[in-house]
Amino acid sequence: MTRRIERHRLHGSTPGTAREVIARRYGAAGARPKAYVQAALHADETPALLTAHHLARLLDEAEGRGEVSGEIVLVPYANPIGLSQFVWGRHLGRDEISGGGNFNRNWPDIPALLGACLDGKLSDEPEANVSVIRAAMNAALAAETPRDELHSLRLILARLAADADLVFDLHCDDEALMHLFLIPAHWPEGQDIAADLGCEAVLLAADSGGASFDETFSTPWTYLAEKYPDHPIPAACLAGTVELRGQSDVEDTLAEADAAALFRVLQRRGMIAGDPGPAPEPRCDATRLDACEVLRAPASGVAAYAVDLGAQVREGDIVAWIVDPAAEDPANARLAVRAGTDGLILSRRDRRYVLPGMTLAKIVGTQTLPERLGGTLLEN
Ligand SMILES: [Zn+2]
Repeated sequence: MTRRIERHRLHGSTPGTAREVIARRYGAAGARPKAYVQAALHADETPALLTAHHLARLLDEAEGRGEVSGEIVLVPYANPIGLSQFVWGRHLGRDEISGGGNFNRNWPDIPALLGACLDGKLSDEPEANVSVIRAAMNAALAAETPRDELHSLRLILARLAADADLVFDLHCDDEALMHLFLIPAHWPEGQDIAADLGCEAVLLAADSGGASFDETFSTPWTYLAEKYPDHPIPAACLAGTVELRGQSDVEDTLAEADAAALFRVLQRRGMIAGDPGPAPEPRCDATRLDACEVLRAPASGVAAYAVDLGAQVREGDIVAWIVDPAAEDPANARLAVRAGTDGLILSRRDRRYVLPGMTLAKIVGTQTLPERLGGTLLEN
């Protein structure tokens, strides 16, 4: 049994308090390939915590059978700061309430940290370049000094993940179907992942903006390949954000199945021995993130949906009504919100009183939407 549990203490919490994250490590240190999986960076996205719990059990069993052939790092709760944020009894785990912003934005800019340190160090051997780049990334992150508690959390997680071949950041949406975010460099390479998880959408963006956790580790490779065109640099870290349906989809049956799917992916990619069997038929093709419409409330009121999750809509179909509780005449109280594209209703919001601009639904379309160009990041 080589499983180890590491405890990483965060810096700079308030006097009298201390927080830590746990990393469950499987396999020999430095073994390849390496996978990194973390749960609930948005700390109120509870399906991820339950899935990580079931994945830990599967990994413990595999380790006991001597089947872990690569290295796997599982962080079963990625955000102890967010896990503590209850305000008037309501859990707010998406943004740091003391002002640090969305927990899934502003991750370290690894290419900026690398600077020019790779100049003159690369060769004509892709695998050698991968090793050189990973060592440089590890060194650059190791040299950073935490500025505050949140930054220390970012550094701890980034140091655990940066040199992985595969990174999964487990999230969920409000009310949603299973879906996955990847960069285009990893499609169709990641098709088995989407198929095994039963994804109903795979959203691709080369750089969605905002420095989300997954892109922090996938995009440096495509960036460096462009920066050093004379040296072969593969896209050596497949990093994806997995949206494990909606906030309330917290059931052992779902989480066990999702953990088993992730386990099969780890088998298929060589971190765990054994035959995962063929990946099932994919339930969707990938689409561009800038073709995914974020339908927003045009006014405040009560959102009453006209379509279910998973519905196929056409441009112009009514997706929801915004009902104005202050309207004197109930006949004039309802404002229709229509789809701006043909596509699949991927998500809806769970709390139905809305203010102008709040997201009502995401519609997976196939046609690039002009308003989405130049800033494609979803509220994932
Ligand atoms: Zn999230």
